[in-house]
Amino acid sequence: MPYRPGMGSPLVLLDVDGVLNPFERPHKGYRRHRCSPDGVTFRLWLDAGHGPALLALAETAGAELAWASYWCDNANEWIAPRIGLPALPFVPIPRFPGPEEGGTLGAWKARHVARWTERRPFVWFEDEPDATDRIGAEPGAGEHLLVVVDPLTGLTAEHLDTAAAWLGGLAR
Ligand SMILES: [Mg+2]
Repeated sequence: MPYRPGMGSPLVLLDVDGVLNPFERPHKGYRRHRCSPDGVTFRLWLDAGHGPALLALAETAGAELAWASYWCDNANEWIAPRIGLPALPFVPIPRFPGPEEGGTLGAWKARHVARWTERRPFVWFEDEPDATDRIGAEPGAGEHLLVVVDPLTGLTAEHLDTAAAWLGGLAR
């Protein structure tokens, strides 16, 4: 489904830790995975149902999935194949803030999201309160919906339904 001509399709932005990888195992659909980006090993809970559900959300809405996570491109190697997603574009969030970038880590993440999305509309699945507080104040951010995820339980069907309803409203 094409979005408004000239505006670019909407984006669906995915955080990893606290969203796709909850801090505790919420139900048996999650399995433990060892991921070793840059030689550092993490143990993650991942739900193989998330990839198909996110692809269906994007397909229905004519939206594009992208990473908004400190995992950046590492998510394509270590997360995507384990949950059934293809390689996705990613917000290039640097590992450390530059000297000109003050504020909390969440504010810094919000700034990079606003810059990278270039006024395209976006849904953002995010658990970091500082990031979710700040995105509305970023001057470059387009129309958006923040779906705040509880990091203990991660992304749920209700979050996906909320996103689908908002994206469906955009297309009208
Ligand atoms: Mg997070």
